[in-house]
Amino acid sequence: MTLSRRQFLTGAGAGAATAACLASTPAQALSREPKAMPEGALGMLFDSTLCIGCQACVSACRAANGVESGATPAPLADWNAANTWALAEDLDGVTLNVIKVYRDGDASVKDRATDGFAFVKRNCLHCVDASCVSVCPVGAMIKDPVTGIVTHDADACLGCRYCSYGCPFGVPQFDLGKPFGQINKCQMCAHLQAQGGIPACCDVCPTGASLFGPVADLQAEAEQRLAAEPGTLHQFPRGDIRGDRPMHEAAIALYQKHVYGQTEVGGTQVRYLSAVPFEKLGLPTLGPDAPVRFVEGLQHKLYNYLLAPAVALFGLAWVVRRNKPGIDAQDHEEH
Ligand code: SF4
Ligand code: SF4
Ligand code: SF4
Repeated sequence: MTLSRRQFLTGAGAGAATAACLASTPAQALSREPKAMPEGALGMLFDSTLCIGCQACVSACRAANGVESGATPAPLADWNAANTWALAEDLDGVTLNVIKVYRDGDASVKDRATDGFAFVKRNCLHCVDASCVSVCPVGAMIKDPVTGIVTHDADACLGCRYCSYGCPFGVPQFDLGKPFGQINKCQMCAHLQAQGGIPACCDVCPTGASLFGPVADLQAEAEQRLAAEPGTLHQFPRGDIRGDRPMHEAAIALYQKHVYGQTEVGGTQVRYLSAVPFEKLGLPTLGPDAPVRFVEGLQHKLYNYLLAPAVALFGLAWVVRRNKPGIDAQDHEEH
């Protein structure tokens, strides 16, 4: 294998900068303390056992966020392939929220792992120590210091997709329909909250499966459900846990004894309850540490060492190329 002069110089420069960075950095400096959730953190509790798969939340999400209905429908034949069906097959550049279904065997009983089925809502989990915020080189992912909600500044976004690769849940997606591309993800309907409203998905959910409110209240409600005797009737809040809507009465399910998101990757502000194991719903088994705690120091050093020169180099190269149109032909001859 031969390297062009350009490849060699690029690789050598990056290697030297990385080596310099690592050599000057003690290992302990690469980890930092976990981030704490803001006191007034807002979030969502999704209780899979209450979800009836109506997809009202998906339609409401599209309407609230300016996505035309059916903009990205999955081909009909694929709806039941790979155990999934929804208006869209999964999150994509315009779909901020999907309902997916787990199925096993004859899928005859809801909320049963064997020969059963269960629904799961997929959207941003608004992590306490959010990887997307940490890896974004230009601060286009922003965690609100009061509510903890993670929003995205489209004007600042470079379109580099580091957030997509960094997110442990694969949430941010690239909208190729835009002239310069754009990252999209659930912002917990921050625009509706600014007008005194609540996230559209929770607003329309008929059973309270998607429930909005302070994370502390949602966690307490989740723990109450876990502590209750399966089969006993429970009054499930709907919409906003602090609101006064009529409750939805239903029996307590045989839950997995864990609130998903309480500990995973340092905690998330969207939490889940389920009767089938979380990994069957596509919620990965993750440890309690946010991975960014251990790589942030190195990564930010790399940004310091590499990004500014890389941007400068890119800018210089662009100017040189613009002024010397014959340079491409010369490069190709070297290969
Ligand atoms: S789920 Fe992904 S996109 Fe959402 S806050 Fe966490 S890291 Fe960011
Ligand atoms: S909070 Fe808003 S953007 Fe997020 S899933 Fe619900 S409706 Fe969609
Ligand atoms: S979360 Fe609520 S609105 Fe969405 S599919 Fe389930 S029951 Fe329907």
